[in-house]
Amino acid sequence: MRLYKADLHIHTVLSPCGDLEMSPSAVIKKAIEAGLEIIAITDHNSTKNCSAYIKKGEQAGIVVLPGVEIQTSEEIHLIAVFPNLLIAEKFDRLIYNSLLPIENNPDFFGDQVIIDAEENILGIEERALINSSLWSLDEAVREVRNAGGVCFPAHVDASSYSLLGQLGFIPPDLQFKTLGITAKCKIDRLMAQYPFVKEYQLIRNSDSHYIEQIGTGYSNLYLEKPTFEEIASAINNTDGRFIKPAELS
Ligand SMILES: [Zn+2]
Ligand SMILES: [Zn+2]
Repeated sequence: MRLYKADLHIHTVLSPCGDLEMSPSAVIKKAIEAGLEIIAITDHNSTKNCSAYIKKGEQAGIVVLPGVEIQTSEEIHLIAVFPNLLIAEKFDRLIYNSLLPIENNPDFFGDQVIIDAEENILGIEERALINSSLWSLDEAVREVRNAGGVCFPAHVDASSYSLLGQLGFIPPDLQFKTLGITAKCKIDRLMAQYPFVKEYQLIRNSDSHYIEQIGTGYSNLYLEKPTFEEIASAINNTDGRFIKPAELS
């Protein structure tokens, strides 16, 4: 068992707010430079670019998990990761159908580009991924777990699109063990504001939309080996697996 350096919240060129330089080769290169051993691809409300980044990651010897950042109907961001691409792609059809059929405005939000590992453009996602899913937080969590994925609320210290920002508390019935925090989160301050956060383990991620953000926020995952099962156990804080967020540099 040892600690693995991980960042489970990275966007790609598919995210409307993601920089077009977030290509598979650039993301993987920067992740390796930053010493990361595990990353997750988590675009807004879509898993359509996971394949390209996983392929590039396999070539370079870094673990890339397929994931998604769901925006629930309460405007809460939830990070989910899945055991494999097949499951993530099945999940994509579910979440796609939970989005309102509103078109993206590329002039305002940027293009939502679907690419392969070699950066060939496979298509442009027309449906606006920036909008909320019709799923409530409860429904989103249930859908992720039914699919075989694991999830945690994203950036709870952020004032917008976060569980604490929107609700101010953590619904106990959802049985979260882990809360996501931003790259810049001051953990002492978060715990002073919300003392109940001490009951949870925290995972610091970069939430990278730009290449230079990769490596700015990460966590150490205590695992036997970097498989999905082990990572899921760390997120669920079971079997002696756990997560230690990096200190602020
Ligand atoms: Zn977010
Ligand atoms: Zn994000």
